[in-house]
Amino acid sequence: MTHGIHHITMICGDAQENLDFYVGLLGMRLVKLTVNFDDPTAYHFYYGDATGSPGSALTFFPYPDGRSALIGNAMVSELGLSVPVGSLAYWQDRLASAGVQILFEQDRFGADSIAFSDRDGLPLRLIESGEPGQAWPEMTVPVEYAITKSQRATIMAGTSHVRGGETATGQLMKDMLGWESIQTNGNVSRYGTPDGSILDIINEPNQAWGRGGHGGVHHIAFRIDSHEHQIELMHRLEAKGHRTSGEVDRTYFRSIYFREPGGVLFEVATDEPGMMIDETFESLGRSLRLPPQYEGRRDLIERALPKLVRPEAGAAR
Ligand code: ZN
Repeated sequence: MTHGIHHITMICGDAQENLDFYVGLLGMRLVKLTVNFDDPTAYHFYYGDATGSPGSALTFFPYPDGRSALIGNAMVSELGLSVPVGSLAYWQDRLASAGVQILFEQDRFGADSIAFSDRDGLPLRLIESGEPGQAWPEMTVPVEYAITKSQRATIMAGTSHVRGGETATGQLMKDMLGWESIQTNGNVSRYGTPDGSILDIINEPNQAWGRGGHGGVHHIAFRIDSHEHQIELMHRLEAKGHRTSGEVDRTYFRSIYFREPGGVLFEVATDEPGMMIDETFESLGRSLRLPPQYEGRRDLIERALPKLVRPEAGAAR
């Protein structure tokens, strides 16, 4: 079984614009600067808390030439980011003064929140939850307001497999991934884990199918506590007819991938070894990290990637 969201990965357009938004404006830490392990012509940005802990990370593949995502069935329709209790007023001011259109409203289950989108149109929501996290060098937002977790997501499940009022996605979350059903409101069912992760599943028969692209979620990764349990889960999934990728080494975690019945790509990732396997706390994200198979081509890879300007503290654009 899994115990929460590990990271969520998106496609974006312009790399610099994405870095300016998530580091410069949202104040997340760039904890790892690397390339798409399946395509080293593209960056892979990992944003997170001070140490890039599981449950804090949003990651992006910038592909400037792609098209925009369409939110619809078989897509993630929104991500939720946790900010410390009492910090929404700060964010309202900060986002509004940066020219971001915001909506101060309650989420589907009555929590105060700020809804807005990133530069590629990815729908985001800030929700107050818990205490401030740990500070790090060169923070662009004071630690008492900084985003702590990125472990809420909303999925628009396909509708063809509802049984006993529950989507096939919801059944998978409970039966295979070990999540609890928390609450249902109309056509939205909420599932969660004790670490505070939340997945809302929308069952909307008349919703058109979505498609991936800029501003779209590529996959959601769930935490698993050991490699042994990961292999066990892979065998259980395969025994139930889910085709998996088999084991994949992502340097910072080990992964398996499969498509859930509603159409969203899921990953199950280990907490270990984590972001600090190849960098210290101080130096996280400061230099381009390449997996061993690409190290020999570092010069070529670096020349082909767009140059980046680091957002400075307080320099939100
Ligand atoms: Zn992933």
